[in-house]
Amino acid sequence: MAFTRAFVMGHPIAHSRSPMLHTYWLKRYGIEGSYQLMDVAPDALAAFFETFDEQGWIGGNVTVPHKMAVIPYLARIDDAAKAMGAVNTIWHEDGAIVGGNTDSLGFIGNLDERVPGWDRTAQRAVIVGAGGAARAAAYGLKTRGLEVALCNRTLAKAEALAAHFGKRVGAHALGELATLARDADVLVNATSLGMVGQPPLEVDLAPLKADAIVYDVVYVPLETAILKAAKSRGLRTVDGLGMLLHQAVYGFNHWFGRKPEVTEELRTLLADDIRAKTPGA
Ligand code: NAP
Repeated sequence: MAFTRAFVMGHPIAHSRSPMLHTYWLKRYGIEGSYQLMDVAPDALAAFFETFDEQGWIGGNVTVPHKMAVIPYLARIDDAAKAMGAVNTIWHEDGAIVGGNTDSLGFIGNLDERVPGWDRTAQRAVIVGAGGAARAAAYGLKTRGLEVALCNRTLAKAEALAAHFGKRVGAHALGELATLARDADVLVNATSLGMVGQPPLEVDLAPLKADAIVYDVVYVPLETAILKAAKSRGLRTVDGLGMLLHQAVYGFNHWFGRKPEVTEELRTLLADDIRAKTPGA
């Protein structure tokens, strides 16, 4: 196979951990290729796509602030990207540049890995938040047949998202969280609360059922206050690092033709990097 070049583009982009994980897989599978950081300012986006093939790109990841802005440059986008209104992965298909969104696959793949069989009995999920991560979580959980309650500080945002998803997704104020938690099989923090530098998400875990799962999409720190509290209550927990790893699997497969494994070694590599760069994480 010829040398293959993929990218992660955003602005700023230096903080991205994606090169670390794709480079790990390239080495593990002995694939001749690269995965590079591309800082693309908003006014350089058109030029980036004009020279896409000339640059020899096979495809790549897209992050803030381009997740919506790239859509007009793509021949088509997949159903997940349509549902989320955002693209995080670009690849070539039948001679065209196309896009998709793998965040919900990453969200669910992580849950499947960490709590195998979780969806045999789970019926209801409560998601705190209504931004990009909540969108991915809601789409993934709805696709797996759950009823989803979105609780957000700004109720109007939760309402807009619930209306967008239609059946089986409802909107609620943050004040309803304690009541909704009683029936939740999966409780998700999809806000930026709990991230380093942010206050924790204040939520009383006491009403949760003993077999409920608490999932935090935040991964810096790896163990957030809510996950610590859930563990000490004996609840099953899922952290956000696995979501980052699992969403990357699909892009790698598109570009390099191999579905890579999310290994413990890879998890440790990223976890060590997070701890090294974030005191207290
Ligand atoms: P976003 O679109 O900006 O949404 C942020 C959400 O947090 C909104 O619902 C916002 O509520 C809520 N929020 C922020 N501050 C709050 C506060 N003080 N009190 C209550 N709610 C508050 O961000 P995002 O892209 O969804 O990212 C959210 C988190 O997910 C980030 O920590 C990000 O790193 C993480 N994430 C992880 C992965 C992964 O792979 N693990 C992927 C994507 C994102 P309002 O609507 O009221 O403002």
